[in-house]
Amino acid sequence: MSDTHVSDAPPPQTSLKSLTGQPLDHIFPTLTPAQIARIDAHGRRRMVRRGEVLANQGDSGVPFYVVIRGYLDIVKPSGSGDVLLAVHGPGQFTGEVNMLSGRRALARAQVREDGEVIEVEREQMLMLVQTDSEISEIVLRAFIFRRLEMIAHGLGDVVLLGSTHCAGTLRVKEFLTRNGHPYAYIDLDRDADVQLLLDRFNIVPNDVPVLICRGELVLRNPTNRQIAECLGFNESIDQTHIRDVVIVGAGPSGLAAAVYAASEGLDVLVLESNAPGGQAGSSSKIENYLGFPMGISGNELTGRAYTQAQKFGAQVMIAQGATKLSCDRKPYAIEVESGPRIPARTIIIATGAEYRKLSIDNLDEFENAGVYYGATFIEAQLCGGEDVIVIGGGNSAGQAAVFMAQTAKHVHLLVRSTGLADSMSRYLIRRIEDNPNITLRTSTEIVGLEGREHLERVQWRDNRTGDLDTREIRHIFVMTGAAPTTRWLDGCVTVDPRGFIKTGMDLTPDDLTAAKWPLPRAPHLLETSLPGVFAVGDVRGGNIKRVASAVGEGAIAVAFVHQVLHE
Ligand SMILES: Cc1cc2nc3c(=O)[nH]c(=O)nc-3n(C[C@H](O)[C@H](O)[C@H](O)COP(=O)(O)OP(=O)(O)OC[C@H]3O[C@@H](n4cnc5c(N)ncnc54)[C@H](O)[C@@H]3O)c2cc1C
Repeated sequence: MSDTHVSDAPPPQTSLKSLTGQPLDHIFPTLTPAQIARIDAHGRRRMVRRGEVLANQGDSGVPFYVVIRGYLDIVKPSGSGDVLLAVHGPGQFTGEVNMLSGRRALARAQVREDGEVIEVEREQMLMLVQTDSEISEIVLRAFIFRRLEMIAHGLGDVVLLGSTHCAGTLRVKEFLTRNGHPYAYIDLDRDADVQLLLDRFNIVPNDVPVLICRGELVLRNPTNRQIAECLGFNESIDQTHIRDVVIVGAGPSGLAAAVYAASEGLDVLVLESNAPGGQAGSSSKIENYLGFPMGISGNELTGRAYTQAQKFGAQVMIAQGATKLSCDRKPYAIEVESGPRIPARTIIIATGAEYRKLSIDNLDEFENAGVYYGATFIEAQLCGGEDVIVIGGGNSAGQAAVFMAQTAKHVHLLVRSTGLADSMSRYLIRRIEDNPNITLRTSTEIVGLEGREHLERVQWRDNRTGDLDTREIRHIFVMTGAAPTTRWLDGCVTVDPRGFIKTGMDLTPDDLTAAKWPLPRAPHLLETSLPGVFAVGDVRGGNIKRVASAVGEGAIAVAFVHQVLHE
């Protein structure tokens, strides 16, 4: 990185040094004359003058520019002087992932030398990447790599000031990471100079974490929704018109439904109460998803799906959960946490499941401050070199134990049952048995948590002997399964005795009579007791709790959405 410097000398192609190891010609590719000619048809050529700003940091709905003659500087404004990210010359183009979502630009595009560009409006650019597979591959790869570079360099429009002892810091870090939003992090426990900065903004310890948004707004311990608002995550989304399909939940099943529905031409809105990824997003490594023999982190897999859904034109509202389904008349309407009711011709419920919690009175004091429900690299950074506890006998617990054993001093895997054989895949059991860094403690459960601001001590009980053991352990990973997230549906659809949504053939004649099913046809596969409302993934009764089945059901539901829309 270097400071902005405008001179008459021929500029270097870029001053960015790749931190992600991606080749520069993939991050900043040069289009061929034939490719440029195809883009020409979607935009208009125009002359540009030295110093002209084509897009400013914070602008939304920014057009896509291809340089024909001259040079453009891509500059990241910062408190300590502008940072020159790149210089685009002839054949090169502007933009990164935000261009797909229509979110605010993270950098300024400014003309370095008089020249000519092709200006393509965002809608036209989206059409181009949907229809021209060669250009789509080059542009999307560059957009994703540019975003990864910005994340690696901490070059967003956000500075997070936090502490490892504070639950909110982990929450905000996870929210930004899952949204793929670059940010710079200042660790208040390590950075003494930062006091000056805190004083400048009158920040007291209770305000932590603090988020400085776009260099202007200072948010003290903000909610995820406040962060989404400040960063304009949802501002380009029209919430008032009737959608062909509203998908509730952006885990693997909801994202798959969004990709298929949008790619097949439907008008799609996805509502997500937190950040994209769902439970899969909290997995350090998924090794049994088809096509990834080396495994892939849940965040990476769902991050790609999120970009893919946006590429096809699906809109995703972040930190905006559904609170109620108005199901008494059509079109259906979904109430959200803030904002207008969202009308929908059809709905796909993909709200998955919520983690089961330990039944310990003071548990909530330590959630995200020693008790975690995900085991990704973010949590791993918090507990390197310390003993940790993983609770649960399923595959997610096994994965977490193996993953944490790479960085923790020792992993205690606690299960209430007498062994793992019934609940965990054989390959994980073998890895646990072979790992000297993991101790399996069967018939054992946590009975006490202690600590002031952060978990400091844990007590567990061996249920065979009744012996209590107290250990100085500061990190517990709870992986004890999940219950369906259906509260917001408030009786609109029929559920099974465990609360999972019944669909298709599982709905008995009695169920349909009780639900006043109005149509001469039976419910389609994955259709609930409410016509045109489908349920997919972990929230559905009879679903196999796997990423692959969630993705498959998301795709299948869309085929029936088409049929319902034609009824
Ligand atoms: C740690 C862990 C590791 C795992 N590892 C594997 C693995 O290796 N292989 C495998 O196949 N499976 C694995 N699983 C299981 C897999 O992740 C799930 O089966 C899958 O994520 C289910 O997808 P889903 O979309 O149905 O639901 P979820 O992933 O639960 O997603 C539901 C989404 O809906 C959102 N939501 C909930 N309520 C609302 C609302 N009212 N409004 C808006 N949004 C809402 C949630 O925030 C969430 O993002 C793992 C699970 C965990 C927890």
